[in-house]
Order: sequence, then C-alpha cells, then structure tokens
Amino acid sequence: MVVTGSVVGVRRLLRPWVILTVAVVLVAVAGVVLLSRDARPATVDSGQLRDAVTPQALTAHLDALQRIADAHGGNRAAGTAGYAASVDYVEAQLEGAGYETSRQPFSYDRTDLTRATLRRTAPTPTTYAVGRDFRPLAHSGDGSVTARVVAVDLALSGDRATTSGCEASDFTGFPRGAIALVQRGTCPFATKVDHATAAGAGGVVVLNQGNGPGRTDLFAGTLGSRAGIPVVATTFELGAAWADAPGTTLALAVEATVTRVTTENLIADTPAGRADRTVVLGAHLDSVPEGPGINDNGSGVAAVLETALAFGRLGVQPQNRVRFAFWGGEEDGLHGSEHYIARLGEEERRRTLLYLNLDMIGSPTPAASVYGGGEPGSGWPDGSGNAQAVLAGFLASQGVTPGTVTFRASDHASFLAAGIAAGGLFTGADEDADPCYHRACDRTGNIDPAMLGLMADAAAHATLVFAQSTP
Ligand SMILES: [Zn+2]
Repeated sequence: MVVTGSVVGVRRLLRPWVILTVAVVLVAVAGVVLLSRDARPATVDSGQLRDAVTPQALTAHLDALQRIADAHGGNRAAGTAGYAASVDYVEAQLEGAGYETSRQPFSYDRTDLTRATLRRTAPTPTTYAVGRDFRPLAHSGDGSVTARVVAVDLALSGDRATTSGCEASDFTGFPRGAIALVQRGTCPFATKVDHATAAGAGGVVVLNQGNGPGRTDLFAGTLGSRAGIPVVATTFELGAAWADAPGTTLALAVEATVTRVTTENLIADTPAGRADRTVVLGAHLDSVPEGPGINDNGSGVAAVLETALAFGRLGVQPQNRVRFAFWGGEEDGLHGSEHYIARLGEEERRRTLLYLNLDMIGSPTPAASVYGGGEPGSGWPDGSGNAQAVLAGFLASQGVTPGTVTFRASDHASFLAAGIAAGGLFTGADEDADPCYHRACDRTGNIDPAMLGLMADAAAHATLVFAQSTP
C-alpha cells in the first residue's frame, strides 16, 4: 500500500478545556479489570458517563452527517467536499466542548478498478462475465496474467472446512508465475494473497467456500489494502471445475486508474492524563463514494464524538490521556490510521496503551460483536484480550452475549501492525446485518438506535475503564 506522507498541520486551540466544577466522577465498584503493560486492576462506575451519552445526541450527529452528505452529492468520501464538511462538523463540536483539536493531512494514490476480464484459454476457450462469474476483490492489484491455474490446499468435498492459503507452507513448491486458486475460509483474504504473492503467484482466484447456502455463489470481498497482483473472487462451482481440470489456463486482467487523494485525520486529546499511557478511541469519518455512510461509519463517529463531549461536560479527569481520533481514507485502504501510526514514531507507539475501534455499530439487523483479540491463536498483542473482556463483560451485564470477530479490515489493523493492543465493537456488515452496506441507502433509517445506544455505552464504559487504569 502506498502512503505518501505530507506535512502534519496542527491547528492550535481557540478555547481552553472546559472544566466543570460540578463534577464528577466515578470511582465506585463495578468490576475488576486485569491489564497487561504493567497496569493494575482498575474499577470504575461508568453510569454517569453512560447517562451523558444520550440516544438523542447520537441521533443528532447522524442527522448532521446525513445533511452533509445530502448537500454534497450524496456521500462523504475522502477527498470530497462532503468529507471536508464532516471534519468541520466534528471539529466544531469538539471545540465547542473546549477541546483543542488538530488536523493531520496526508495524501495517497487511490486506485479505482475500471475493467476486469477473465478467459479460460485451455483446455476449452471460454469467456467469463464480470459480476456473474467473477469479480475483483476490493484493493486488487492491476495487471494481466495468462498462466496455469494451481490449486492450493483446497477442500472440495466433505464439510469443506479449509485453511487454503492461510499458511505460507501451503505454497511450498508453488510454480512461480502461476495463478493461485485458493478457497475462501478461516483466514482473511489478504493473508492468502500475501502468501501467494510471496510465492511468486501472477494472480489469485478465490473460490467461494461451498460449505452452505450463502457460501457458494459469487461474492464480494476486500483485501483491506492494495495487493501487488490481480485478485478476483469466483463461485465455488467454477473454481472447483478449474481445480478438477489439470492443465487449465486462465487469462486474467484487471485495469485501474490512479487518482491522488489529499485528506486528513482529526484528533483531540483530553488535557489531563498521562501521555505515556495514552488510550485511543477512534472511528473512520469517511464514507464510500456510493452513499452517505451513516451506519458505516457515522455510527462509530457519533459514539466517539459523544464520548468525547461527555468527558468534557462531566469534567472527567482521566489517569491516562484519552485521544479521540477520526480517521480519513479508511475506505480506500486504512490510509488515515496508517499515516497516523507512521508519523507516531517508535517512542509514541510505546506510549500508547490501547486502541479501541468503532466501525459499524448500529447495523439495522445487528449482531453484537467484540473484537476477539484475546482468542487463542489470534496473534493480537498482549492487552487486546483485556479490551475484549471489558467490552464483552459490559455487554453481558446488559443482557447481551456478544459474538467475536477477528477481521482486520478496519483501522485497528494499523495499530496491531505496530504492536499496539486493540479492541473494538462491530454489529455486522453482511447482507443480513446491513443490506445497505456501501450503498446509497446507508442513510439515517439504516440504523438500529437501541443497538447504537448500547454499543456507544459499551465504548464509553471501556474508554473510562482504560483511562482510569493505573500501572
Ligand atoms: Zn467502515
């Protein structure tokens, strides 16, 4: 992925932090939290903070983002006037509550896939239809390759449980230049593609897993960040047929245009708290060009923003600095959070205790989930399990048993890659949970307000727990 950093601009503050004498906060007993990174158990009562994060306020932020999209061509995508207006809105809210804010500009090259073709040249020439038989994964590389198809550890029969392409060893003996045929399942697409690329594959075809309804047809997927080789999805049936026909040769081509995008992150810190134990709560502020992005990710933005405003209104004095972050360029490949991490430097990375990510937390048919960084084998940095436990524990206390997700297709991936512990909340992006995902209908009606309120409470609670944790 290409991230070309430019100058970091810092807008100095206009207003002092408002410290309300009415005060405050919160040290009763609610739960015991075990922290790594030499932190002792912290106990907090987050009730007052959660009461301050009201459904009305969350809704007002979503309405504002909807109005911004409506006034700017229907979206708030990075590099557009709709995104700029979104930054202005959040910034004004934060500064109105007394925060000093800073904008962090950056640029990157956005690649738009414009055309894709796929033909079988042997044994029997056949031309396939994009959108029916195959489809590039988001962030596929461009280029063309005509080569033999080589199946990689497929499970085409039985229960079709597969780890195809998930291990580098799956590619032992893989002929350089060939097209890797891997099966959906178990690990992220990006992991399979990384291994294929390292093995010298000229392209990758991902067939659907074929293990049940909804897992057989053509699907859409994302690599999160740009691959160096063409990568397309296909149906289970087509992929299995190619695997079963030795000598199958495919001609795969993906074309792209490159556009320079200049955009920015927006950041605000609590004035109090140890900077060497910074807790970051973040959400991406950009939408896709196809729609206004209210669930994805106005929902996360509303919760981060209202948590920040509630901290201000209550005059919370955190033990540890809390940094509220609004990322740009996420939908184009996590550019904002990657830029932030790149500019942070090794020293500041060590001074970051934890990152909490909110991306899609008000899905209309929600499946409440927490990031599973504490799951065995997750490979997430120490401390991620604490975030998982705090978030899951809170939801359980509210009568909701969350699922766990370990995807890395959002901004927490940038922190994980830097060795920083991370956690987060998610309520689903698939057809069942959010049929308007990345579409024009991702409007204010595309939200379950009760779930958004619960998730915002969980985020506020966890932020306070980690803000008040002591070494
Ligand atoms: Zn998102």
